Amino acid sequence: MRSSEASKIYFDRAADELDLSDNMRLLLLTAKREVQVQIAVETDHGEIATLIGYRVQHNNARGPMKGGLRYHPHVDLDEVRALAALMTWKTAVVNIPYGGAKGGISLDPSKLSTRELERVTRRFVDAIHDLFGPDVDIPAPDMGTSAEVMAWIMNQYGKYHGFSPACVTGKPVEYHGIPGRNEATGRGVGSLTIKLLTRLERSVPRATIAVQGFGNVGSHTAQFLHDAQCRIVAVSDAFGGVHKETGLDIPELLRYSSEHGGRIDGFSGGDPITNAELLSLKVDVLVPAALGGVLGKGNAASVNAAVIVEGANAPIEPEADAVFLERGIIVLPDILANAGGVTVSWFEWVQNRQHYQWDIHRVREELDRILGEAFEQVWHLSTSRKVTLRTAAYMLGIGRVGRATVLGGIE
Ligand code: NAD
Repeated sequence: MRSSEASKIYFDRAADELDLSDNMRLLLLTAKREVQVQIAVETDHGEIATLIGYRVQHNNARGPMKGGLRYHPHVDLDEVRALAALMTWKTAVVNIPYGGAKGGISLDPSKLSTRELERVTRRFVDAIHDLFGPDVDIPAPDMGTSAEVMAWIMNQYGKYHGFSPACVTGKPVEYHGIPGRNEATGRGVGSLTIKLLTRLERSVPRATIAVQGFGNVGSHTAQFLHDAQCRIVAVSDAFGGVHKETGLDIPELLRYSSEHGGRIDGFSGGDPITNAELLSLKVDVLVPAALGGVLGKGNAASVNAAVIVEGANAPIEPEADAVFLERGIIVLPDILANAGGVTVSWFEWVQNRQHYQWDIHRVREELDRILGEAFEQVWHLSTSRKVTLRTAAYMLGIGRVGRATVLGGIE
């Protein structure tokens, strides 16, 4: 199923509950702007490489549009479109004054040198610098991009528009970034997992957790839940995974990964496990924190987790979501579960605009407060309306965007 079809299914379910008119549905589903640009760069070997970059600006009823920039070979317009809409609902669920956007370039960053990645990034900014900016659309890191890439974006944007640190978030702390942005998404996934387990009256200490993906989101989620006395029994990345029933030594695994180019295969503190095996482990919580669409109708029946927390964007296909509902597996949806990153991006943007610096304690405190409030609102909507947490989160997000649209008017 195409990404945009999957996200429309979730949208429609919530729109039915909200009794939205067809006109409002069309307005909320249609992106404001979709851009596709050619990026021609010279490789380190003097050849010409031509890449395609995308930016979809979905909705700005609640504020400037906000969303990550992804570097991955699977990036295409349909995926970016679906992810941009997710950002609109996500910023509304956590009630921060933004709309939604997303961008990406179809490339495999592991096949490019740092200099080539920098050239690609700067040429992309050359192509779209008039279309984004602090009051319009603010990119951030996503799969395959990093704080370093954000620094290049700020620097290149500044060549056209002058000093504008608020044009992009997720920058290095030493270059107008904010402490705590790097850990923010994983911290949010971890803290919301604990809230959910507590609400479900399940024990947090010794809870068994499997995490797919050990990049930014997966590694910080594992670290946070390890610190909270949970047992991280398995983690994986694109190259394989490791499993230990009594719990992996996460600080040791983090050290190993940083010494092995971010990879975890070959770690001796556990047994090798494939991604498919990890997804079907009997655990309290499964956290898919890598790619979208990893749980579909082909493997939903083999999932053995009590709870799934969507660290990644759109890891569950609608057919699998239906299977999980039928089997009583509770799903905490992406638009709430991984909203920690965009929330701290908002703090960074505020800090940049005020030329002020927040410390890590303030960042964590405000993040925990905002996510905690959003969780309670989604939980109560879910129980009072007898809908899944996903439908409740969509209802909250879509309802807020719809109200802002009506209040602003369309004249
Ligand atoms: P990342 O590039 O830092 O890490 C991705 C991880 O996934 C790596 O460990 C990689 O090896 C692994 N991976 C890639 N392909 C895989 C495969 N086929 N099987 C198993 N593992 C695979 O990316 P990230 O920033 O951690 O993003 C992960 C997900 O979280 C994405 O869906 C992204 O959209 C979402 N997300 C990220 C943020 C953020 O702040 N970074 C915020 C919200 C949502």
